[in-house]
Amino acid sequence: MLTAHNLSKSFDALAAVRNVSLSLAAGEMVALVGASGSGKSTLLNLLAGLLDADRGTIRLDNEAVAGPKDRLVAGHPQIRVVHQEYQLMPNVTIRENIAFALRYYERTYRDQRVNELLRLCRLEAVQHHKPRETSGGEKQRTAIARAIAEPARVLLLDEPFSHLDLPNRLLIRDVLIDLVRNSTTGPDAGTACLFVTHDASDALSISDQIGLLQRGRLIQLDTPRAVYGQPKNAYAASLTGPVNLIRGKHLPSLGLPALGNPDTEYGLRPEHIQIDPAGTVSGRVERVFFGGRDTELLVRLNRFVALRALVSQTDRRIGDEVRLHIAQDKLLVFS
Ligand code: ADP
Ligand code: MG
Repeated sequence: MLTAHNLSKSFDALAAVRNVSLSLAAGEMVALVGASGSGKSTLLNLLAGLLDADRGTIRLDNEAVAGPKDRLVAGHPQIRVVHQEYQLMPNVTIRENIAFALRYYERTYRDQRVNELLRLCRLEAVQHHKPRETSGGEKQRTAIARAIAEPARVLLLDEPFSHLDLPNRLLIRDVLIDLVRNSTTGPDAGTACLFVTHDASDALSISDQIGLLQRGRLIQLDTPRAVYGQPKNAYAASLTGPVNLIRGKHLPSLGLPALGNPDTEYGLRPEHIQIDPAGTVSGRVERVFFGGRDTELLVRLNRFVALRALVSQTDRRIGDEVRLHIAQDKLLVFS
């Protein structure tokens, strides 16, 4: 539905987006993940038609999406954007900010829809506040409510969860999932959603595909399972979750065979290292990270190697000697 082909954008000498191609289908949720400065917002603004690309094309339903250079009013009417800085109107209330998106609808419908959105995004209590009288999370939810006020083909969200506390994050996740999944009833109806995040858990849990950006390049685009299970490089592995990075020369001290170049990096997810009395290596617990559902231990094997292991036992203490079982077949070999 929305297709980008070979997009590039530089700011002076800095290549912010390099040769990115991707496509979004109706009813699909795609997460864009990358370190700060990797080009996420720039790519999103290109896709929205809010920034002119140096090279490449963007098409929505086979029509070109024009950049601001070729357009009187910035943006595309069927592409909704929630910016990282919200861009709410400062001098009117939360309610009026949302209602503005529905200004061309008749009064009764508009009031009813605004009430629905206020309830959906839990903003009823602050509806008569001005943006400056609300919290970051309330502003963020207002921007989202405004973006989803009327149906659109494409929803582009820049860090939509960054200022939300856990309950509100789960709420907005559900709102977005419902919107995207329930929108595919008509023959060519359907909203596609692309959201930017630096939080792996949001990306892994609700998206159909994850795109990983590294210095402007889309280095991997695949399902959450594939991106988590076969990350292309160490950067991709660490963006998608906790990972132990181990140099080739240290593999033997983990009871693993030495492979290739001694300086090549390999990865091991903490959940593939378990405490096991019959384990092949031993070490001393150096740190304990209680995580609620499970606990992560930092276990030092020797001067050079300490591993994070995810364990279900929560009674381990700093200084305990433990034996570890390492799932050798789970070693991540980067391409
Ligand atoms: P992200 O959203 O992933 O943090 P951005 O897309 O905002 O990254 O920025 C990518 C790179 O482009 C950064 O190095 C940033 O400093 C630079 N950049 C972004 N916008 C501009 C601009 N308008 N002028 C100059 N440099 C910019
Ligand atoms: Mg950004």
